[in-house]
Amino acid sequence: MKELTDKLADGHALAEAEYLSLLTCNEREAEYLRQAAQAVAQRVFGREVKARGLIEISSYCKNNCLYCGIRAGNPRAERYRLTKEEIMECCRQGDALGFQTFVLQGGEDPAHTVEWVEDVVRTIRTAYPAKAITLSLGERPEEDYRRWFNAGADRYLLRHETIDRTHYAQLHPTAMSYDNRLRCLDSLKKIGYETGTGIMVGSPFQKLEYIAADLKFIERLHSEMVGIGPFIPHRDTPFRAEPAGSVELTLRLISILRLMLPTANIPATTSLGTLAADGRERGILAGANVVMPNLSPVEQRKKYSLYDNKICTGDEAAESRRLLEKRIEAIGYTLV
Ligand code: SAH
Repeated sequence: MKELTDKLADGHALAEAEYLSLLTCNEREAEYLRQAAQAVAQRVFGREVKARGLIEISSYCKNNCLYCGIRAGNPRAERYRLTKEEIMECCRQGDALGFQTFVLQGGEDPAHTVEWVEDVVRTIRTAYPAKAITLSLGERPEEDYRRWFNAGADRYLLRHETIDRTHYAQLHPTAMSYDNRLRCLDSLKKIGYETGTGIMVGSPFQKLEYIAADLKFIERLHSEMVGIGPFIPHRDTPFRAEPAGSVELTLRLISILRLMLPTANIPATTSLGTLAADGRERGILAGANVVMPNLSPVEQRKKYSLYDNKICTGDEAAESRRLLEKRIEAIGYTLV
């Protein structure tokens, strides 16, 4: 199995069946994989972890993804929507804390017209010419993506969730289209966004074969960012009784992705930190190089509830950042 790790490290690509073997390798081999990925991450990024300030701008969503706590069909979800002024206040706090990237994420909120988001992006761009602006607002017409890009957005996160069509239909209502999601990723790339995609690990009905195909897809797409986090059930969704995804498998995937895409930005996600107390640290040691502390207003944090027991919903932005910084320093890295 060492050969597969070495082959991936050298050629940055494997056959689907080879990815599958790596996903199922034994613990000793997985440790070899992890060390190889950690070495690549350290060679590319040093012992530095990049912080992105996450601003969750709305918990309204018109979609009904079966896994997600803010799905339209959840009457118990508490809804909020940040105003432009509130978003700018989050940016001011983030700027004061030294963040160089703002990530605006939200449900697919019908109130977010193309003009409104465009205005917010332009206002942030004007106030902070040197910062990166990342959007994660779901599926939109190509024209919207283009206008936001022209207004100053640089990056877009849109996980494909699964590359298997049948699996996609098991995770989403029929009103949602697999083809449209992939079309969106195409548009984003074409427009010139740094594009991020990814999957949940252990989502209901997922098979290891699907993950191997997901890896092949990400390899071909050559994403600049890849978000991989474990699925965690939410009590008010149809998947409430499903088991959470595996931390070990998530870490293994992070390592494979690091070898596949040495310079990609790969976060140690909040969901990984939610499932295991030391999840984010282990993510970094497996090859991740990004963390996304929360800059959302504390009053609204709990309402952006995609899954149960999400961490850091109570801390002020400064406190969140300080705690994360300490954790990262404890494993010999610096938060930048
Ligand atoms: N509306 C945006 C942002 C979605 S939230 C979009 O469609 O892209 C960001 C990610 O959270 C999703 O892409 C999904 O992979 C993840 N997520 C949603 N529910 C989750 C759950 N129950 N457990 C773990 N991750 C979840």
